[in-house]
Amino acid sequence: MYGKNAWNKYTGEKLDALMQFNEEYKEFISKCKTERECVEYSIELCKKYGFKEISEYKKLKAGDKVYATNKNRNICAFIIGDEKIEDGINVLGAHIDSPRIDLKQNPLYEKTDMALLDTHYYGGIVKYQWVTHMLAMHGVVCKMDGTSVNVVIGEDENDPVVCITDLLPHLAADKNNKPGNKVIEGEDLDITIGHMPLEGEEKNAVKAHALKLLKEKYNIEEEDFVSAEIEIVPAGKARDLGIDRSMVIGYGHDDRVCAYTSLRALLDAGKCSRTTCTFLVDKEEIGSVGATGAQSKWFENTIAELNALMGNDSNIATRRALTNTRMLSSDVSAAVDPLYQSVFEVKNAAYLGKGICINKYTGARGKSGCNDASPEYLAQIRSIFDSNDINYQTAELGKVDIGGGGTIAYILGNYNMEVVDAGIAVLSMHAPNEVVSKVDVYEAYLAYMAFIKNVK
Ligand code: MN
Ligand code: MN
Repeated sequence: MYGKNAWNKYTGEKLDALMQFNEEYKEFISKCKTERECVEYSIELCKKYGFKEISEYKKLKAGDKVYATNKNRNICAFIIGDEKIEDGINVLGAHIDSPRIDLKQNPLYEKTDMALLDTHYYGGIVKYQWVTHMLAMHGVVCKMDGTSVNVVIGEDENDPVVCITDLLPHLAADKNNKPGNKVIEGEDLDITIGHMPLEGEEKNAVKAHALKLLKEKYNIEEEDFVSAEIEIVPAGKARDLGIDRSMVIGYGHDDRVCAYTSLRALLDAGKCSRTTCTFLVDKEEIGSVGATGAQSKWFENTIAELNALMGNDSNIATRRALTNTRMLSSDVSAAVDPLYQSVFEVKNAAYLGKGICINKYTGARGKSGCNDASPEYLAQIRSIFDSNDINYQTAELGKVDIGGGGTIAYILGNYNMEVVDAGIAVLSMHAPNEVVSKVDVYEAYLAYMAFIKNVK
């Protein structure tokens, strides 16, 4: 069903199933606020469904469930089908990094008897949205002896939180005259972590106290920040939004809402005639770069490993597999905001409640940098969605000359596979708390499952 509100399909048991699925999703985004946490959670979920890590297999056969991970920040889960890998696989790909604020490598300093951590933001944030929130610290500190320590501060209700302070309006006359992108600058996003001096310490006693507490709790020294990856994110759990509980507000829907629904779709679909895969990547928000971004050779290498475990380690088998692969780039769309409707072209825009949103292309201006999916492929996907009673819509990212953006779609398209963006509409995208509709979350899960079972 194209362009129709999906809610009226849901009453009684179907509505209960939709709400229950969203409870499970809320647990996922409440716990998983870094790409590493998403990978760990995904591994546990895969194991519950009978998956094994790729190194545990000497060879693979139809029906086997296997996952591979890359540097703790990517995961690929596969269910081997009856057909040969070189005839192509059906892939759902989403990213598990979200905009946030990272610690610098030499972050800790003391000023006016306060201890602060210097930061460098990650991805496209609207900086003024991130001040005065209760924030948490999530990440890992890797030490020279080869051990690493996981850090989570601010999630348990007995934990302290951290925050970025802001100027009071009484003194903000000059600041408030600045344009929005300058009102809070990158170097003003440092977080406050303490102000109690260490007893007996003369100089920098507040900083010394903070270091003592970090040493006691995590056994880390100041220099260990050099090899740490600590992400500053909103503290607390995702919650129902609206008096009708129709939406979820929380941190990191972009793109963990598509990651979770894509992974669940793969797991719940079970074995299909073609091999199926959900691929969760890192670094989309900064251009899909590096070893753990979608541009990495890791996905291609993993397909080669699968072929080898199926007894076909020829180079051409992997190339054929990639060309014959069909993919949905599961990424979120910007939902029309009733407060800011003028930036959208309303006939070609995504709305909360109309189900999964297909973006034939994204890009900027004259579609620059986009993956313009083939109409033949879109026709097949429409047909799959229609015959499975899936509500879907199509959209562009705003009016033609207003904005733009990219996803991982074109990168996988470089392998010559068919790929199109399809995901969930989000309000307040990239803000500390984003909003999705529960019916879209559930419809996307069903749409991904229909795709992975049926596309050829
Ligand atoms: Mn995204
Ligand atoms: Mn994004």
